Amino acid sequence: MADDSQKSYFIHTFGCQSNKSDSERISGDYAARGYVEADDWRTCDELVVNTCAIRQRAEDKARGFLYNVGVFFNESGKQRPKIILTGCMTHHGQEKLYKMIPIIDEILPINEVGFNQSTVRKDLKHAWIPISTGCNSFCTYCIVPYSRGREQSRSLESIMTEVQDLVNKGFEEVTLLGMNVNSWGLEKLGIGFRKLMMENKNYTREDLPDNQSQYLKPTETPPFVKLLRAISEFDQIKKIRFMTSNPWDFHDELIDEIATNKKIDRYVHLPIQSGSNAVLYRMNRGYTTERYSEVCRKLLEKDPEIVIGTDIIVGFPGETEAEFEETVELAKRMKWKVAFVAIYSPRPGTASWRIYPDDIPHAEKKRRWEILDEICNKSTMGERPIIV
Ligand code: SF4
Repeated sequence: MADDSQKSYFIHTFGCQSNKSDSERISGDYAARGYVEADDWRTCDELVVNTCAIRQRAEDKARGFLYNVGVFFNESGKQRPKIILTGCMTHHGQEKLYKMIPIIDEILPINEVGFNQSTVRKDLKHAWIPISTGCNSFCTYCIVPYSRGREQSRSLESIMTEVQDLVNKGFEEVTLLGMNVNSWGLEKLGIGFRKLMMENKNYTREDLPDNQSQYLKPTETPPFVKLLRAISEFDQIKKIRFMTSNPWDFHDELIDEIATNKKIDRYVHLPIQSGSNAVLYRMNRGYTTERYSEVCRKLLEKDPEIVIGTDIIVGFPGETEAEFEETVELAKRMKWKVAFVAIYSPRPGTASWRIYPDDIPHAEKKRRWEILDEICNKSTMGERPIIV
């Protein structure tokens, strides 16, 4: 319980697991400074709003929440807390954000949260562990490379110290988090995509050999596979999950590791985003549907217990009816356990926002969303045999 002299904080978190994990670390920072967590934002001294910017709706939710906070304190006459905004909306920049949401007192850049900050965890059996932040993949619709910056891998030593600490505390399950976990550690070896881009200004994705993407030496064991093996060495760790994987970086040795290392969860999340190669190209996803299907087929051939989930975007700029139908056909053939279907919304600052007109009417996007959601999530698809 807090004594009256102790300052308190409250964190309201929007968005993905990376944000939730960041919030655990922000809590750790407050705890280290002697703050206690308030039960409610109405009674705290400092309110942190950890935002998501993946879609306009996500930003609208954060703005709506902050509007309600302002109304509450205006109407109640109570002293309002210091309001700190962090998360992916910080990509707008300080000047714009202070104008856009005048109630904000401070902006905490997302990269200041840090990997090594101690955490305050509510779940005492399962732990989120960030292993990287940022992303070098530059999918044209995605704000992450701008909001979180370029990919940075956390050191092996720092991750293993955290796992050891979790083991000491009795944790049995971990989820490794990164925007693209498959490329963890590659920039440390000097073979990350950015390094290639820097060394050869004319380098494009078309120059990348299929399935080797960020790997200059495809015969080398990817660092992420080594990390999975190292964590599996702990007897006390019973289950390892990871998210998210870009199929572009899904190395054959990772497929083997998942198939043989039964500590790794049998659920693999592998976003396809579109069943049309033309749309995937415009999205700069770096793989084809054939390559995606090959990864799934190999996973399932090696272990039929594996189940695969996916993400799909409908209504990407220029998506023709025929291109949408390709996604529908692929969805009918695949055995996705679950598909998170999203309606495209242009994010200011991204390449697709700059290059492509948002030319699919909302009603048409919604129709496509309903069709795919029905096929992927409401029919008995999970029962069907695989694949492709
Ligand atoms: S892989 Fe693509 S969608 Fe995922 S975070 Fe990176 S840029 Fe965004």
